[in-house]
Amino acid sequence: MASSILEALDIIANNITVIDTEIIPIEMSVGRVVTEDYIAIYDLPRFNNSAMDGYAVKVDDAGKEVTSSQVIYAGDNPTMTLEKKEAIKIMTGAPIPKGCEAIVPIEDMTLKDDLITLPLHIKQNGFIRMAGEDIQKGTIFLKKGETINAYTVASLASQGMTHVSVHRLIKVAIFGTGDELRPHFEKIADHQLYNSNSPMFLTRSKELGCDVRFIRTAADTLEALERSIQSTLDADIIITSGGVSVGDKDFTKVAFTNLGMNVLIDKIDIKPGRPTVIGKIDKTVVVNLPGNPLASMVNYELFVRAIIRKLSGKTDIYHNTLHTVMKNDYVLRGGKNAVVLGTFDGKCFKALSPQMPGMVSPMQKADGLVLVMPNVTKLEKNSTVSMIPIKWELCSNKQEELFTK
Ligand code: AMP
Ligand code: MG
Repeated sequence: MASSILEALDIIANNITVIDTEIIPIEMSVGRVVTEDYIAIYDLPRFNNSAMDGYAVKVDDAGKEVTSSQVIYAGDNPTMTLEKKEAIKIMTGAPIPKGCEAIVPIEDMTLKDDLITLPLHIKQNGFIRMAGEDIQKGTIFLKKGETINAYTVASLASQGMTHVSVHRLIKVAIFGTGDELRPHFEKIADHQLYNSNSPMFLTRSKELGCDVRFIRTAADTLEALERSIQSTLDADIIITSGGVSVGDKDFTKVAFTNLGMNVLIDKIDIKPGRPTVIGKIDKTVVVNLPGNPLASMVNYELFVRAIIRKLSGKTDIYHNTLHTVMKNDYVLRGGKNAVVLGTFDGKCFKALSPQMPGMVSPMQKADGLVLVMPNVTKLEKNSTVSMIPIKWELCSNKQEELFTK
């Protein structure tokens, strides 16, 4: 029986297990998922220091004339003590001296000849960066399940950590099925077709941080399919497309079942992409996507992405949506849970038209997917929609308003 979209996502969340771990240098760790909580071993900043180029002063000296003869630079280890009616010149990042109660920025001082006058109001601890105000020693600064980005690496480096424990790369093996398919680097006859799905999944899986292998296309016979499957069984995920519908030569599911696939999902109530099959051979996750490019892409985005997240050890495994409004009217046939591809410009979602299961060109333009219930036959212009993003960077071909006013 076909699963609903949410049932299929639930089955994925409950049946896919996280892959094993390794310890790698932090510079190599972008996109990886952390396997344990990381506790700060140092305060950050490690010592109280100046937030400005200025003067270390006492609060009681506000409005008074003071003398200054010493300077503290970043990197110094000052041993002096600040006295009353004294100001010690100090640079940004330098440790504050004993007795210092505040920093006054250079621009707030009145300097005349050798005389320095402090401003009338000086706030206790003003412009002092306190030890631990950023990251406090003993607290968790990086949680198990978080994905590492450049800013996570900054936190790790700021703690003097050279290595991090992460889940290893997910190994993905991809192959197409179909007698009509030829690789894109060969000459083809007019009745043949380039295999565009396999390079698409290869590229998308790489974008999502996987280690990807693409093997030859299998012909539409059980023997050819079984041979291809045998050579991919060491992967964490095998992704195929084609041969899962009701055609006379649609043998993909049979071939995988012959080799021990335990079927978790057999068809999904989704348009396009209903014939999708998801299963497991031992620990290897198998995803048989439909052959039609756009149908397979939709199912990749909804289900393979969810599988990759779960395998990779992320804790935030569920899709989430961005709420926006329709830029155009879009008519649907209704009666099925449908997926609509469209562009998003930061303000509106524009459904792409035409978009049909066998097409390639709408995928290239799409920024996101909108899931629509069977009773909806029209998405009205200006109505609110929830979009699952498939691209993240918001850019424009002209300078948009960037500021919040
Ligand atoms: P199938 O699911 O095998 O019946 O294929 C459905 C449609 O998708 C047919 O028109 C196939 O030629 C096409 N198709 C199957 N596999 C691919 C592929 N890897 N790249 C592009 N089109 C494909
Ligand atoms: Mg086929």
